[in-house]
Amino acid sequence: MKNIPFFNYPALFAQRKNEYNSIISKVLAQGAYIMQKDLQDFEVSLSEYLNVKHTIGVADGTMALLISLMAADVGEGDEVLVPSHTFVASAAAIHHVGARPVLVECAKDHLIDIDALRRKITSRTRAIMPVQLNGRVSDMVGVLKVANENNLIVIEDSCQALGAKFDDKFAGTFGSTGTFSFFPAKTLGCFGDGGAVITDKDDIAEKVRIIRDHGRDPRDGKVKRFGFNSRLDNIQAAILNLKLKYYDEDISRRRAIASIYQERLSNIEALFLPPAPNSDERHFDIYQNYEIEADDRDNLREFLQHRGIGTILQWGGFMIHQFEELGLNKDLPFTEEISKKFMLLPIHPMLSDEDVFYICENINEFYCA
Ligand SMILES: *Cc1c(COP(=O)(O)O)cnc(C)c1O
Repeated sequence: MKNIPFFNYPALFAQRKNEYNSIISKVLAQGAYIMQKDLQDFEVSLSEYLNVKHTIGVADGTMALLISLMAADVGEGDEVLVPSHTFVASAAAIHHVGARPVLVECAKDHLIDIDALRRKITSRTRAIMPVQLNGRVSDMVGVLKVANENNLIVIEDSCQALGAKFDDKFAGTFGSTGTFSFFPAKTLGCFGDGGAVITDKDDIAEKVRIIRDHGRDPRDGKVKRFGFNSRLDNIQAAILNLKLKYYDEDISRRRAIASIYQERLSNIEALFLPPAPNSDERHFDIYQNYEIEADDRDNLREFLQHRGIGTILQWGGFMIHQFEELGLNKDLPFTEEISKKFMLLPIHPMLSDEDVFYICENINEFYCA
C-alpha cells in the first residue's frame, strides 16, 4: 500500500533544500528584511514572466483582493458580483471595503456562468470579481462584454491561476488588477503567507503601493491616505524568485498528471472530470487543483483514505452561499447541486507517475466492485 497525502508540505522544502537554506541565510545575514532588493527583484521577475507593467508584493492573496478593490474605489453602497464557488476570502475582501458580495452561479467547468452573471446586475452593481478557479481562466470575453456593456470594473481573483491563459492572455491581465496568493499549497507557494497585485495601470499601481505600506508614498514617505501593513517580506520574495525559475517545469508536471487522470478515469460514468489539458485551444490550464464531481463521493473518499490516498473538499465542502451566518443570496441551484459531488484529487509536482496510476487503479476498483 502507498501513502499519498493530499499535499506533501515537507516534500516542498526537501525538493530544493540546499538552495532554500542558502537563500534564507543570505537574506538574514544581509539584515534586509522588509521592502528591500529581494522584493523588488521578485516584482520585476513576475512582471516579466506575465508581461505586465506592475507587480506589487503584498502580505497575502486576500489583501491583494482587498487592496485592489480599495484602489478601484469600490466601497459603501456598491454590489460586487462573485461566484459562490470560491474561497470565502473573495467575498470577505468585498465585505471589508463596505460593499456587498452578490453570489453568482458557476457553469459546468466550475467557473463563473456568464448568463447568470448578467441576470444579477442591478443599478448598484459596481464591479465583477471573476475567480480563475482550479488553475483555469473564466470566459473573459464574456465577462468583459458584460462589464463593458454595464460600465463595471473587473477585479480578477486569479489567486489559483498564475500562468494560466485564455486566448493566449495570462490570468490576472484582463481586469483592472489581477491578484495572486503564494500560500504554500498554491502552484507558486512560499513558506508562509504571501501575495501580489498585478496591473498595467500606473495610477492603480501607485495606489496599491501606497495602501500596502501604511498609506505612505514611496517617493517621499508622506502619508497620503490610511493604509495597511501588508507587505511581502524579503525572505518569501527571495524564495519565490527562485521558485519562479522552475515554475514552467512545475506546470508541465501538473498538466502531465491531469493527462494521466483523463486517460485512466474518463471511462468511469460516475465521475465528471475537469477539461483535459489540450481539449480546448482557447484555454491553457495550470491545474492548481484537480476538481472532479463524483457520485457516492463520501464513500469514495473513505475508500481512498483506507488505501492511503488523501483527498479533500475545497472550502471544507461548502460554497459561500452555504455559510448561513454570512447572510448572502442562496438562489444558486447548479452550484448547490455540484457542492454535493465536488472533491479534489492530489495533483502536485512531487507526485510520481506510479502514485497517479495507484490513485486511478483504486478509483476504478471502487466503482467497478
Ligand atoms: C488562496 C486563495 C485566495 C487568497 O488566499 P490567501 O490565503 O489570503 O493568500 C483567494 N481566493 C482564492 C480563490 C484562493 O484560492
